[in-house]
Amino acid sequence: MSDNSGNGGRAREGRSRREQNRLTDKKESGTGDPRPSSNLPRGDGRPSTKPQIGDSRPAPKSSGDSGSSKGGDGRSDGGGSGGGGRRRRRRRGNRGRGGGQQRGGQQGRGSGASDRPVEAIEDTPSLELDEKTLRRRRGRERRGKPIGRYLMCVSVGDGVTQLAILEGRALIEHYVSRPADDANEIHGNVYQARVQNVLPGMEAAFVDIGTPKNAVLYRGDVQFDADDVEGEKRPRIEQALKAKQRIIAQVTKNPIAHKGARLTQEISLPGRYVVLVPNSTTYGISKRLPDGERRRLRSILDQVKPADHGIIVRTAAEGVTEEEIGLDIGRLAHQWDEIESLARRSEAPALLYREPELVFRYIREEFNRDFRGVLIDDRATYEQVRAYAEGVAPALVDRISHYDLKEEKLPLFERHHVQEQLRKTLDPKVWLASGGSLVIERTEALTVIDVNTGKNVGKSSLEETVLANNLEAAEEVARQLRLRDIGGIIVIDFVDMDVAKNRDKVAGALREALSRDKTRTQVFDISELGLVEMTRKRIGEGLLESFTSECEDCEGRGRQLDESLLAPGGGVGRR
Ligand SMILES: [Zn+2]
Repeated sequence: MSDNSGNGGRAREGRSRREQNRLTDKKESGTGDPRPSSNLPRGDGRPSTKPQIGDSRPAPKSSGDSGSSKGGDGRSDGGGSGGGGRRRRRRRGNRGRGGGQQRGGQQGRGSGASDRPVEAIEDTPSLELDEKTLRRRRGRERRGKPIGRYLMCVSVGDGVTQLAILEGRALIEHYVSRPADDANEIHGNVYQARVQNVLPGMEAAFVDIGTPKNAVLYRGDVQFDADDVEGEKRPRIEQALKAKQRIIAQVTKNPIAHKGARLTQEISLPGRYVVLVPNSTTYGISKRLPDGERRRLRSILDQVKPADHGIIVRTAAEGVTEEEIGLDIGRLAHQWDEIESLARRSEAPALLYREPELVFRYIREEFNRDFRGVLIDDRATYEQVRAYAEGVAPALVDRISHYDLKEEKLPLFERHHVQEQLRKTLDPKVWLASGGSLVIERTEALTVIDVNTGKNVGKSSLEETVLANNLEAAEEVARQLRLRDIGGIIVIDFVDMDVAKNRDKVAGALREALSRDKTRTQVFDISELGLVEMTRKRIGEGLLESFTSECEDCEGRGRQLDESLLAPGGGVGRR
């Protein structure tokens, strides 16, 4: 069993990632990071003769606009006025604006003969809890006011939703989502897909899922029936897949720039307490839970686990009743039935299941009694979130409130000082309380963090001063990685320490600080040169990428060329 999900997702993911890295090695000199190199033309959707990773076909005119073909990830049209209006605001439109409407629709759906994709948030009947359980689930209060470390602020703009998580007053996480973007924001979606071509040499296949760019399915993510394939344990990709074949596949990675979305055939449907892995023997309980709790959950699963499907129990299941887990599993199993039924009626390519947008995912997976509140500055979103929370966290519904811009003096993010904290977060330099600093630089392949000591000359020895500075930096690095949503390979250059024991202390402090990060990280020991190499799972595109675009003049290099030195008779010829 691997870290916290048993023999299922994580182990699988590790293996596939390695395979992908091997592939990118060939193309992008080992970055493992599928971003375009700055001196190449950005993904422009031109069909090429030879198929290659990230292969594109021209974007259909109806869904594409100049913005999405330029950046490839839709970021270039963010915040502006143009793109949003032309896009179909499908989710809101489908669900109906009012919460009441939504609940009514859900009862009337019956056999589900509709051909529109299954949406998780429609399958949330109210959860009835007995008084005792309700009381345990409710958060703590002081003089009638809810208390908790965290506050969630949701700001809904034109086509862009921003989510900020505050711990006390400090911004600790921030996400940007463009919910109407059906071409780029598709992580978790399930498709009836069609294999376009199989590339044995790359151990990958290109798959049409109906988005402008073909998606990629690597050999490690292919599912196969052992009876169909003779010989080897894991068949070659050309044995398992054929062109034009129809498959059901799920997006595990959004398309980025010139790279298509990444797919897996091993579907997983996340719920609040469990993840359902349809038609699988996967079985796992989060290793973050104490042994006694794991035993209790295992005995509950013996009662409620569906025979055909695998289950991974999430850390959030701690202290949860059999009824709640049963309901969660039942809901997911029902979702899967609907997905399969829709697949039988659909031609490829077709979207079968759409992951709910960011706010709902966050409520589903993270919202608990440690949140003193959820503030949403858009009435319709507020009503939908509240209705959804009645199904997944009924004891906490009262903590969700509408931040009415008509009544408030300040916009939500200003009121909670999110903006000014965001601004600092876009700066490469971060000051430490003791006077030292970090400089965070993103490159194509990795992120480099340079740790500097301040002018503070310690009272004790230099080694002691440096140690204190590095320990402080380790804490801040963890905070910044989470806040800036930096993924991939990260190299931290701590200030040199002579004593090996101190180097271990710093690595330990970094690991400890990172354990509060729900995104998976891996830290290696400090090298002889005082460098720490680590990885952090890439989830979003990163804060910097969401808020900025590359400078067109210098293509992101940040240097101006002195033309006179290259001119004939200039510096070059002189000597
Ligand atoms: Zn520039």
